[in-house]
Amino acid sequence: MTDRPVTDRAPVHTGGCQCGAVRYAVYVDSLHPYLCHCRMCQKAVGNYFAAYASVPLREFTWTRGKPGVWKSSDEVERGFCHECGTPLSFRYVARERIAIALGTLDDPARVKPRRNFGAEAVVPFFGELASLPSSTTEGDFAQTGSSLPRSRQHPDHETGQWPPERR
Ligand SMILES: [Zn+2]
Ligand SMILES: [Zn+2]
Repeated sequence: MTDRPVTDRAPVHTGGCQCGAVRYAVYVDSLHPYLCHCRMCQKAVGNYFAAYASVPLREFTWTRGKPGVWKSSDEVERGFCHECGTPLSFRYVARERIAIALGTLDDPARVKPRRNFGAEAVVPFFGELASLPSSTTEGDFAQTGSSLPRSRQHPDHETGQWPPERR
């Protein structure tokens, strides 16, 4: 999609899809993070809203694999992993920027969204979501006496090879 940035800086952020076939690096911290509730973003990420942050293309590179791309309109390309289906990116093709899906960051808690777009389609219960009854994954499995399933998800850091051994 773009030339590798001419940089020997360490990435500020890294991330990728669930299976690890597609990985990326971001070389700036000014991400302009936001939520978009518009009906197209709801569909594109299969959720009530999308969380994205936009960075200049020159500060971004795919470090492993390349996403599949679907043009959701003449102006917009949405990138996803062709192996596992993770939504990864959003981009106005005429602009020199790319927005990455914030849940795909290796450390999503480091980037806090600063505004909502697509207010016309916000689900009416959005404001109530944070106060729903909560439990942890480990706690839930412990309660039923079963152990956590062995995950095939790529870990939240760079790996030389993934999966570790192919079978
Ligand atoms: Zn994948
Ligand atoms: Zn949207």
